[in-house]
Amino acid sequence: MIAAGFGIYAIAIPALLLVLLAGAEIVWPRRKLVLGRSPRWRTHALFFATNAVVGRLLSFLVVVGVAAHWASTHHFGVLNLVPLPFWVGAIIAFILLDLAVWSQHFAMHRYSFLWRMHAVHHADRDLDVTTALRFHPFELIMSTFFKSAIVALLGVPLLVALAFELWLNANALFNHSNIRSPRKLDRMLRPFLVTPDMHLVHHSTLVDDQKHNFGFGLTVWDRLFGTYRTESILGAENQKIGLAEIDDSRPSGFIWSIKQPIT
Ligand SMILES: [Zn+2]
Repeated sequence: MIAAGFGIYAIAIPALLLVLLAGAEIVWPRRKLVLGRSPRWRTHALFFATNAVVGRLLSFLVVVGVAAHWASTHHFGVLNLVPLPFWVGAIIAFILLDLAVWSQHFAMHRYSFLWRMHAVHHADRDLDVTTALRFHPFELIMSTFFKSAIVALLGVPLLVALAFELWLNANALFNHSNIRSPRKLDRMLRPFLVTPDMHLVHHSTLVDDQKHNFGFGLTVWDRLFGTYRTESILGAENQKIGLAEIDDSRPSGFIWSIKQPIT
């Protein structure tokens, strides 16, 4: 029941944030867009519509919900074995889930069959808040099952699992956004949170840059595993966004994008 009630927030909070960030991008843009807004936004809206049904409502609420419910009723999972105050367990779960998401993103770049799906996200030749919606449904389904397994193994309480999903969505929207933020603010946030300037490096056309800054939420994992990079090796101003082999307008089309993993 909590999951069903949470569904409204799972859509409403990210949607509100999307509107706010999109507005801020229009007023304070950081980079000039290569392919512009309208064709890309249409395609990303179609990705959102597909994934809203496939991922958000169906798999996220049902699969993650079932995994968390099953773990708590069966007293399964690491966190259910150790008696901890709720908040301590919640913080540990948040940190470990963030590490799991980092590891999954690392694997997406490491193994070619996973990269085929994830490349759809990287094919965008611009980076703005709507790029955060551009995930192939196959990737979303896969990541939902992966996250559910982690939720069950750790025994993450349902409320914490759902709150983490919101945190992840909010971070992804924020760090894909094309907002010109003060350097000072960027430097203040970087020790803890993945900022837009930090995630920009990961979307470089240079493969070497792509193998850095895998984080979506906390920056600690990239620092710990030696994959942190302050800016592109070409410099922030000179770096290009997307995949080196796709330098035309194809990524702004939905049909081309959805077929990309199997072509
Ligand atoms: Zn990536």
